[in-house]
Amino acid sequence: MMHSLRARLWLSFALLVGGVLCIIAGGLVVYAARNPTPARLLTLRLDIYAIFLSQAERLPPAKNIDRLLAAAQRVDQALNVRLTVLSPDGNSIADTRPEQGSVPLPPAAYLSNPTRATLDYRDSSGKFWIYSARYLPDGNVLVVSSPRLRLTLAQFIQEEAFLAPLAQAGVFALIVALLLAIWLSGWITKPLRNLAASVRAMSNGKFSPLSIQGPSEVQEVSQAFNEMAQRVQASQQSQRDFIANVSHDLKTPLTSIQGFSQAILDGTASRPEDLQKAAQIIHSEAERMNRMVLDLLEIARLDAKIVEFERKPIDLAILVDQIAGQFTPQARQKDITMQTDLPMTAMVTGDRDRLAQVFSNLVDNALKYSPNGSAVRLNLLVKNNYVEVQVCDSGPGIPTDDLEKIFDRFYQVDKSRAVNTPQGNRRGVGLGLAIAREIVQAHGGVISVYNQTAPHGAGDSASQGSVFVVKLPVAPPAISMTGKIRK
Ligand code: ADP
Repeated sequence: MMHSLRARLWLSFALLVGGVLCIIAGGLVVYAARNPTPARLLTLRLDIYAIFLSQAERLPPAKNIDRLLAAAQRVDQALNVRLTVLSPDGNSIADTRPEQGSVPLPPAAYLSNPTRATLDYRDSSGKFWIYSARYLPDGNVLVVSSPRLRLTLAQFIQEEAFLAPLAQAGVFALIVALLLAIWLSGWITKPLRNLAASVRAMSNGKFSPLSIQGPSEVQEVSQAFNEMAQRVQASQQSQRDFIANVSHDLKTPLTSIQGFSQAILDGTASRPEDLQKAAQIIHSEAERMNRMVLDLLEIARLDAKIVEFERKPIDLAILVDQIAGQFTPQARQKDITMQTDLPMTAMVTGDRDRLAQVFSNLVDNALKYSPNGSAVRLNLLVKNNYVEVQVCDSGPGIPTDDLEKIFDRFYQVDKSRAVNTPQGNRRGVGLGLAIAREIVQAHGGVISVYNQTAPHGAGDSASQGSVFVVKLPVAPPAISMTGKIRK
C-alpha cells in the first residue's frame, strides 16, 4: 500500500504534521502545568484586597487585638483569603489561619514599592500560597494570602479549549500535505516514468534522448542515462561496423583467391607465366588474410585483457635505434633518409617486444607513405615524467577530419589507396594503429598524431607529412632497477 512515492510522501508529511502538532500540544501542556494565568489573576485579586483593607478605616489598629482578629476573620469568611497582620519585625499579631503555618514578612523593598511580582511561600503542610502585603497606618504589615490555584490537565484543556483548534489545524494540514504530496510526486515521478519508458524503448532497439527536467537528482539520472545510451549506441554501431569491415575485408581476398584458383582449375590460366601470376596473387591474398586474422586475434586478446605484458626496464633510446636499423634496408630501397635524434638513455617500464611492435608499425607506415628520396625522422625526447617518441614522415599527411579516427579499427584514410612497398602493392587492413593504441594505453601512455605544416611565410600551407607521437611514463627508479615483473 505504501509502495508508491505519492503514498510515501503523504505519509512523511502526515507524520511531520502529527509530530509538529504533538510538540505544540506538549508545549501548551507544560505551559499549562505552570498555571501562569490563574496565578496572575490571583495576585491581582490579592493586591486589590490588600490595597482595599490597608486603608485606615478598614481594619482596627493592632492595639485592639481582639477587634482586629474578629474583623480579619470576617474578611476571611467573606473573601476566602487568609489575613495576617505582622509587626514590622515579622511577629504575627493576628492570623486568621494560624494552624496553616507562619507567614513570612515580605521584603522591605516590596513593601516600600509594591510591584506586580508574585510573592509566595509554603505553609506547614507544604502547600504553596500567593500573597500580597501592604503597610497598615499603624506601621504593621497586612498580608493577604490565598493558596495557589492548581488546574489539572483536564481542567486546563477544558478551560482553554485549545484541542479543537489544534485538531482543525491538523486536519487542514493533512489535506494540504496530501495535495502537496500529489503535486510533488508528479513532479518527481514524471521524469522517472519517462526514463523507464526510454529504457524499455532502448531494450527494443529504439532510443530518443530524455529531456532533462525535474529535481536536480532526477536530472542527473536522466543526463547519466543519455550519456550511457549514447555510449551503448556508439558501441553497437562500432560492433556493426566491425562485423561489416571484417566480412568485407575477408571477402575481397577470398573472391580473388576463388577467381584465380578457378582460372587454374578450368585451364584459363594455362601458360606458365599466367600460372605463376595466379599463384603469386593467391599467395599474397592468403598472406593478407592470415595477417588480418592474426591482427584480429591480437585485438580480441587485447580487448579481453588476456595479453600478458612484461614489465621490465627498457631503454627506449636503444630500442628506437635498433628499429631504425632494422628498417634501413627498406628505406634504402625508396632512397629515404632515416634520421634519428636520440638521447643517451630513456628508461621506461614495459614489454619490449610489444613496444617494438608499436614503433615498427609507425616506422613501416612512415616509410610506406613517404615519397621516394624523402626523409623519415625519429626523435626521442625525455621530459619531466614521460618519454616522447616522434615518428615524422614526409608523406601526404592525414586529412584533418581523419585525425580523430585514424586509431579506430579498420580505419583507412582511403581504402583504395595503393601503397608501393618493397614487397609490391600491399594493402593494409587498418588494424595496425588500433593495436598500437591498445599497447601504448596498456603501458599507461598515449598515442596521437598531427600534421606538419610548412613554416609561415613559406607560401605553402600544404601538409609536410605527419608526426605520430607516443608518450610513455618514465620508469620509476624502483621498478627500473627490479628484474622481470609480470602483471
Ligand atoms: P594499415 O596501414 O594496415 O592500413 P594502419 O592502422 O597502420 O593500417 O593505418 C591506418 C590508416 O592510417 C592507413 O590506411 C592510412 O590511411 C593511414 N596512415 C597511417 N600512417 C600514415 C602515415 N604515416 N601517413 C599517412 N597516412 C597514414
